[in-house]
Amino acid sequence: MDKDLKNKTISQLQEIIIAFGGKAYQGPVAFNFIHQKFARSLDEFTTLKKDLRASLVSGGYFLSNLKVAEKLCDPDGTEKYLFTLSDGNNIETVLLRESDRNTICISCQVGCKLGCKFCATGFLKFQRDLTAGEIVDQVIKIAADAGKINNIVFMGMGEPMYNYDNCLKAVWILTDPKGLNIGIRKQTISTCGLPDGIRALAEEDIYPRLAVSLHAASDTLRKKLMPIASKHPMAELVSAMRYYQQKTSRRITIEYCMIKCLNDSLSDAQALAALLRPLRANVNLIEYNPHPGCDFQGSSSRAIKAFKDTLMQSGVETIVRYRRGRNIKAACGQLGADRIKK
Ligand code: SF4
Repeated sequence: MDKDLKNKTISQLQEIIIAFGGKAYQGPVAFNFIHQKFARSLDEFTTLKKDLRASLVSGGYFLSNLKVAEKLCDPDGTEKYLFTLSDGNNIETVLLRESDRNTICISCQVGCKLGCKFCATGFLKFQRDLTAGEIVDQVIKIAADAGKINNIVFMGMGEPMYNYDNCLKAVWILTDPKGLNIGIRKQTISTCGLPDGIRALAEEDIYPRLAVSLHAASDTLRKKLMPIASKHPMAELVSAMRYYQQKTSRRITIEYCMIKCLNDSLSDAQALAALLRPLRANVNLIEYNPHPGCDFQGSSSRAIKAFKDTLMQSGVETIVRYRRGRNIKAACGQLGADRIKK
């Protein structure tokens, strides 16, 4: 049975506290200690009676804590945290500071099963899913260190749709006004395109933003970059995205990594524009970031601009996400790159 209180919603905390003789109102109090006051142990729940805290501890309840094993700072302002989990596994989380907001890119698994060719994490062996508490704790630890977090993107290590329940639970916990209170429109779930997960998300009572990593406009090319494309053809993926939009009326972000002489021609851009025509989608063009084990090269600035212009002329809103955090291997596709050789 899971006894980590960081892994609980307010109503779950309430149930536990009532079961130990406490009052219902103490559930939100405990939640507030964990998610706003960043308590590290039950000893810090100072407004809960000592004997209630003691009986929770003797009942096996505890607060898990990620340990900051390393923090790297890029001169461009990006920071990367290497966290150690209670079982000794490591994950990476990135903080992107901008003048008016802090965004963090969080991980949801240790390693990844999907093996996308342009992504360092895909070269690491999959170890396990993170709990909702471990997902949320990345935000807590960085908020405690760096101040208010405004945006969260589930774009770190792992595929959120393969750890669906824990990611959704984390979204609920992060959204709660008695906790970190991060608005649902400020949270983005990014998937490599798992149609079942996209359809499931459309049925939820809460809609984080959805980003889909596409990286190619044809099945043939996509299969070269992302093994998952062999299992889920483009037509199935587009159909799931359409379903999501019919249910939620939400715009979808398409992530597209620009790789030299592979997916960056004008005909690729035209094919992408045609593919997205039935959707309300905007495109983020990402400069390919190198890592060991992969000999792709990033597209030239000129190719990226021409690609963007073609999409824009076709009516597809497009932005270029310039590399950030590359010096500390914190840019898109680089998480875990330091551990590939090991
Ligand atoms: Fe996994 Fe995402 Fe990397 Fe693909 S891009 S290997 S899904 S972490």
